[in-house]
Amino acid sequence: MIYSHSRICTFEQCPYKFKLRYIDKVQPEEVETIETFLGSRVHETLEKLYRDLLEKKENTIEDLICYLRKQWDDTYRDSIIIVKNHYSVEQYRMKAERYIQDYYKTFYPFKQEKTLSVEHHFLISLDESEEYKIQGYIDRLAERKPGYYEIHDYKTNNRLPPPKYIQSDRQLAIYALGVKDKYPYAKDIRLIWHFLAFNKKIESTRTKEELTKLKNDLIHLIDTIEKEEIYPTRPSMLCNWCEFKQICPQWSPLYTTKERSETNQLKTVERNLVDRYIALKQGTRQQRLDLYAELEELEIEMIAYAKKKNTTVLTGSNHTVKITTQTQYVIPEKGSDEWILLLKKIKEITNKEEIPKLDMTFLTRFITDQKWKKRDIDRNLPMLKKVKTKRITL
Ligand code: SF4
Repeated sequence: MIYSHSRICTFEQCPYKFKLRYIDKVQPEEVETIETFLGSRVHETLEKLYRDLLEKKENTIEDLICYLRKQWDDTYRDSIIIVKNHYSVEQYRMKAERYIQDYYKTFYPFKQEKTLSVEHHFLISLDESEEYKIQGYIDRLAERKPGYYEIHDYKTNNRLPPPKYIQSDRQLAIYALGVKDKYPYAKDIRLIWHFLAFNKKIESTRTKEELTKLKNDLIHLIDTIEKEEIYPTRPSMLCNWCEFKQICPQWSPLYTTKERSETNQLKTVERNLVDRYIALKQGTRQQRLDLYAELEELEIEMIAYAKKKNTTVLTGSNHTVKITTQTQYVIPEKGSDEWILLLKKIKEITNKEEIPKLDMTFLTRFITDQKWKKRDIDRNLPMLKKVKTKRITL
C-alpha cells in the first residue's frame, strides 16, 4: 500500500476506520461543509494563478475574482452544510474573494521566487529496499535561488497555530522528504504556510537529523499498520464525526435501540458542542494540529452559547466544561503616551537606565519579581490595558 499523511492519521485515530476506508473501500455518503468548499475554491484559484504564470500568462485580480465566482457558482450545491448559520453563503463567498485579493496585493508581481510546479505530486520510498512508500501533493513548489526550495501550502483556517505546532507539523515535513528525494543536493528546503485569513506567511525548516528521524518514525508507523490483523475499533468522541458510525460495530447496537428511543432529545446543541470539544481535546497532538481551526471555532460557539443561556457550565454526554472569565494585562501600543509612562515607571522601579525589550515576556517576569498581587499591579501600573478573556476548563 502507498501511504500518505492522511492515511497514517486515520490509522492513528482508529484502525477500524482505516480498514473501512482504505482496505474495504466503503463509500460513505459524502458530507461537505462550507469551510471545506471555500478552501477548495480558494486553492483552485491560486492554482490557476500560478499555473497560468508558468505559461507566462498573468491574470489581473479581476480575472481571478471572476474565475473564483464562476467556480463557486458552478460547484455550489444546497447540500453543503453551514454550521455557523448566522453567516450567509454570500458572506463566505466574499471571504474567499478577500483571501485572493489580499494574497494578490501582497505578492504581486509574484517574482519573489520561481514556481516550479503546482499541485506537485511526489511518491517516494522511505527505505533503500523500496518497501515503504509515501506520497503527497504540494500546493506549490518553488525555487528561491538555485538549490533553495520552497514548499508553499495554503490554509484557509480562521486561527493561527501556535509556533510549536509549526515546528512539529508532520505534513509539510513529509513534503520536505519528497523534495529532498527529487533534489538530493538541495541546500535548503523551506516549509511555508500561507494563512490567508490573516494574510500571513509563516516559515519553518527541518534539520537533516529531524528528517531522518521522521523517516524512521514513518517506517515504524507503517510497520505497525501492516502488522495489524484485527483493526480494532478505537472509540473516542471523534466517533461523532466519523462517516462510518452508522455501520461501526462499536455503535450499531446503540443505533438500533438507544438512538431510536432517545430520538433527537439527546442531540441538544449543548451536548453536541461539548462532545465535539472533548473529542478534539482528546485527540493526539497531530490531530489537534490538523483541527486547531475547528477547535477555535468551537470555543467561540461554546462561549456564545453559554452567554445566551446565561450560564458558565455546559454539559456533554460524559463531561462538563466550565467557562471562566480572566483579566489579562496588555502592554499599550508602542510609542503611545501610556507606553512611555509604563517604560518610565518600570525604569524607576528597577532603577535601570535601559529596558532591553518591553514585551509580555519581560512584563510577566517583572511582575513576578515584584511579587505583586492584582491590586498592586493596578495601583503601580494603571497605564496597562486590561482585556477580559474567556477560558474553557474541563
Ligand atoms: S465510529 Fe469510531 S470506532 Fe467506529 S470506525 Fe468510526 S472512529 Fe472508529
